[in-house]
Amino acid sequence: QAKKRHDSSTEIFDSTMHASILDRIMLESDLHAALVHNEFVLFYQPIIDLKTHALSGFEALVRWNHPSRGLVLPAEFIPVAEETGMIAGIGEWIILEACRELKSLQTRYPAQPPLKMNINISGRQFAHENLADMMANALQQTGVIPQSVALEITESMLLDNVELAIITMNRIREMGVEIHIDDFGTGYSSLSYLHRLPINALKVDRSFISKLTENGENQEIIRSVISLANSLNLDVIAEGVELNHQLEFINELECQFGQGYLFSKPMEAASLDEWIMTRIAKKG
Ligand code: C2E
Ligand code: MG
Ligand code: MG
Ligand code: MG
Repeated sequence: QAKKRHDSSTEIFDSTMHASILDRIMLESDLHAALVHNEFVLFYQPIIDLKTHALSGFEALVRWNHPSRGLVLPAEFIPVAEETGMIAGIGEWIILEACRELKSLQTRYPAQPPLKMNINISGRQFAHENLADMMANALQQTGVIPQSVALEITESMLLDNVELAIITMNRIREMGVEIHIDDFGTGYSSLSYLHRLPINALKVDRSFISKLTENGENQEIIRSVISLANSLNLDVIAEGVELNHQLEFINELECQFGQGYLFSKPMEAASLDEWIMTRIAKKG
């Protein structure tokens, strides 16, 4: 009886569902092994000081070098790591590795102010009671000064419990580490409590930069984010700058920093020297 009702469309549905559940289970179990097998790698994307045209620092972006899938992007495994609680361990590794690379970069390329490193923190990681301790431990192990590190959090992490979030943020700020709001403008957060947050900078989401057209459409949103930031004494970093006219536009406003494919895609650590050298050579 049941078999009769099984037409081909439900069969296809069942098998794709089955495949995706299986895929998810495999991803999860592979993720367990990934930390032990050292399969995570950090890529680094330059952040440019738009006033001086100097390299300000980098954002660390994690990838998973999976033995058979190849390079897996964070959008695919960070949510799984969050749901399974594995993010704590992975996040700890990311913080330590980013600080190690920063120390090495600062030694290779001494600058005033010193090169900086932005590290992404996801929701569960931010809510984890040990985040501040992990950060302190990484600074101590690597000898990096706290002022050259910034943690990037998103607006959505503040939604659940703003008061608790502020306590965590204060602990981090007291150490001297900066806090930046990532993907700013995409969340639901009301601007009303922005002035209460102990933050240093807003990163204008890539979607706003990419919507900038040459004939001036969508400039208003960016203009207002920048003036809001300036009134709160916050720096502004424009994400996802890909085209010259986008750079020209944010340059004219009081936007201090830019990041995007126009400057560079995220690079593995081994490529940083060549990129920095080429840049220095070009500037003469
Ligand atoms: P995000 O922090 O907003 O990072 C920016 C994303 O935009 C990166 O994608 C980067 O490669 C990409 N991007 C940068 N410039 C351009 C551009 O000019 N054009 C375009 N089309 N894209 C650009 P990625 O590396 O795939 O990371 C995606 C998200 O995953 C990140 O968004 C962040 O939320 C999360 N993520 C990345 N690394 C980490 C990490 O180490 N820890 C945690 N918790 N989350 C991470
Ligand atoms: Mg980020
Ligand atoms: Mg971002
Ligand atoms: Mg973004």
